[in-house]
Amino acid sequence: MSDVLVRTEGLTRDFAVGRGLGATRTLRAVDGVDLDVRKGEILGVVGESGSGKSTLGRLLLRLIEPTSGRIVFDGTDLAALDRRALHAFRRRAQPIYQDPYSSLDPRWRVARTIREPLDAFGIGTTTEREARVAELLEAVGLSGRHGDARPHELSGGQRQRAAIAAAIAPRPDLVVADEPVSALDVLVQAQILNLIASLQREFGLTIVFITHNLSVVEHLADRVAVMYLGRVVELGQTAAVLRDPQHPYTRALIDSVPHPDPARSPELSPLRGEIPSPIDPPSGCRFHTRCPIAIDVCKSVDPPLRADASGRVAACHLAQLDQHAA
Ligand code: SF4
Repeated sequence: MSDVLVRTEGLTRDFAVGRGLGATRTLRAVDGVDLDVRKGEILGVVGESGSGKSTLGRLLLRLIEPTSGRIVFDGTDLAALDRRALHAFRRRAQPIYQDPYSSLDPRWRVARTIREPLDAFGIGTTTEREARVAELLEAVGLSGRHGDARPHELSGGQRQRAAIAAAIAPRPDLVVADEPVSALDVLVQAQILNLIASLQREFGLTIVFITHNLSVVEHLADRVAVMYLGRVVELGQTAAVLRDPQHPYTRALIDSVPHPDPARSPELSPLRGEIPSPIDPPSGCRFHTRCPIAIDVCKSVDPPLRADASGRVAACHLAQLDQHAA
């Protein structure tokens, strides 16, 4: 049996921009991504705004269609799903968003929102659904009192807990969490990250955790994929990637996280400049306009993704992957 829950092959998504203003141009938000998400893992997907990570998340949930390439979910090509199979897939793949109001109807009491997916997917009897809602509230650290409240009566952290309860209510296999803690203060962030980690263990979830902040996934994700201008530029076990990044962009993301330990002070200059427009990406290596160690060839030759025996992957002419093979 495969240990891969989701596989993307050459996954690409274009958007037309400038429509109605004369010339229409193409923005390639996700560009030929090959990625495996393993059953029961937390895969961190990290990159700046404009890296394509949120578009990748929406593609994995089939909220938008790929322009080309494909997504295989538990052995089935998502493009082949008919209406009935798509409904079944919706139960198995659930989102968590940065803004819990995306999942919580402001007019409904929280318990009703958590129960809604059980009704929509016809899971359990009325009594079982009520018991399940109570169980879910407890699992995310809320009480019946919170279940009786409306979203505006809860704190930001409590709202996110309720949104998480609604996401896991139908017992999904895959959860795509897009910046789920970015709007919370640091203390609450830590609590929600701990909650996500414990729910992942308890329910055996597979989680794709999307964030712009590498430090958020440091203790959470089993593996991390770093995206830049629509492509995965580095992928590997989180500890190995953070300890010894092979792509200068990953290094820059690590260096841009403030750290109290002077032994971890930046070796390279922190990330400079803005991410270029994906409408007109740089030639050669897309990172060359910001890379502190770029060489001539970087301007003209696009570095392929290379892997070593440990599964570590990087797209950089100067990556020394062989030295890190298992
Ligand atoms: Fe920097 Fe060149 Fe590596 Fe790109 S290929 S990341 S420009 S060194």
